[in-house]
Amino acid sequence: MKTIVMKFGGTSVATPEKIIGVAKRAIREKEKGKRVVIVVSAMGKTTDTLLGLAGEISSEPPKREMDMLLATGEQVTISLLAMAFKKLGHEALSFTGWQAGIETESVPRNARIEQIHTERLERVLENGYFCVVAGFQGVDKIGNITTLGRGGSDTTAVALAAALKAEKCEIYTDVNGVYTSDPRYVTGARKLQQISYDEMLELANLGAGVLHPRAVEFAKNNHVPLSVRASYSDEPGTIIQEVITMETNLIVRGVAFEPGVARVTVTYKKPFNGSLANIFNKLAENQIDVDIIVQSISDEFPPSVSFSISQESLEETRRVLMESQEEIGFLSMNVEVALSKVSIVGSGMVSNPGVAARMFDILRSEEIPVKMVSTSEIKISVVVPEIEMTKSANALHNAYGLSEEELIEDTSKFSLNTSS
Ligand code: ADP
Ligand code: ASP
Ligand code: MG
Repeated sequence: MKTIVMKFGGTSVATPEKIIGVAKRAIREKEKGKRVVIVVSAMGKTTDTLLGLAGEISSEPPKREMDMLLATGEQVTISLLAMAFKKLGHEALSFTGWQAGIETESVPRNARIEQIHTERLERVLENGYFCVVAGFQGVDKIGNITTLGRGGSDTTAVALAAALKAEKCEIYTDVNGVYTSDPRYVTGARKLQQISYDEMLELANLGAGVLHPRAVEFAKNNHVPLSVRASYSDEPGTIIQEVITMETNLIVRGVAFEPGVARVTVTYKKPFNGSLANIFNKLAENQIDVDIIVQSISDEFPPSVSFSISQESLEETRRVLMESQEEIGFLSMNVEVALSKVSIVGSGMVSNPGVAARMFDILRSEEIPVKMVSTSEIKISVVVPEIEMTKSANALHNAYGLSEEELIEDTSKFSLNTSS
């Protein structure tokens, strides 16, 4: 018998009525002869409420206790959903992360799943029950509850699908698929029928909150057929797979963006050999995630390095660097906040020169200052002021013809002010 994993996010389980709706939807799948595992998030904005509660006790609550607290959100949903199945005449059992055998590394608030002991779920599924599993949580080797990072229920679902060798994993949410950009902020964003794992991974990593990046990573590494679809309709959603067969000529497939970026510039003494390593080792030791790094060396000015981090980790970064200023050997540190990162993503960029030039041209014509740039084979990101984030995303989305389903096949269509 084939297994399917269905995941429902916070909005899709926000009320008891919606939870009953989820049970009905899962029953329809079971009636097709499938074994069904359902992964759920905390109801509505529960996780935010729990974060707020902790914030009222302490500005730096112990991370272990945060995991303990946040994991309770999903536990409410699993029990209610299992009750809904019973009410509808079906057998179901709910499982927390550890009961479902989800073992993670010991990194509070952002743990990676290491392995899943599926024996118990397999047994329960074989007996014809629905398995209802709490998303976003697991247990480390010494028995501490861990959580997987915001949005991590997607990862629970895909990891379970891989471990149970499910035929597919469906992510049910409040949009009917993956769009060319976040439809809440970008006018004319349209649903994609398909997207490749690699493009989806970039979009997710660059701020497209519709999927947790590690969920996409798991799906890619384990060849899990993955789709994103609406919990409020039966429309087919977006399929995420290795190779796409539609709209293959699109150079840019999506625009992603994220606010809350800070730029730190450290100016150091000459000679500076080793200073880069000192700075970034110190940050790594403290598990501070650094994104874009730009070094600047000239004969006129002291050497400096700028890097971007999330604004949330700014205070910790400042403290870590200042505490070891002597040891690292730098002169001064400047900080710029209220920045954002806007990115264009598409596999078609690999073989198309001029995409970056075009991007800078569009931003210049909108008078948007670019503070930092980073590129990879299939994406270009720019750091711009946060107040310009939505405007930048809309301008790029339009300029690359994403809303009009117009295929941009080559860069000869681009008119670069710089080259004429
Ligand atoms: P859930 O609670 O179901 O996990 P999320 O809020 O995590 O839902 O993800 C769905 C949201 O992701 C959408 O409401 C949408 O605003 C946002 N989003 C961001 N980028 C995209 C995109 N490219 N396509 C679709 N939705 C996107
Ligand atoms: N409840 C968690 C969050 O809000 C996990 C999830 O919904 O995926 O981030
Ligand atoms: Mg989500």
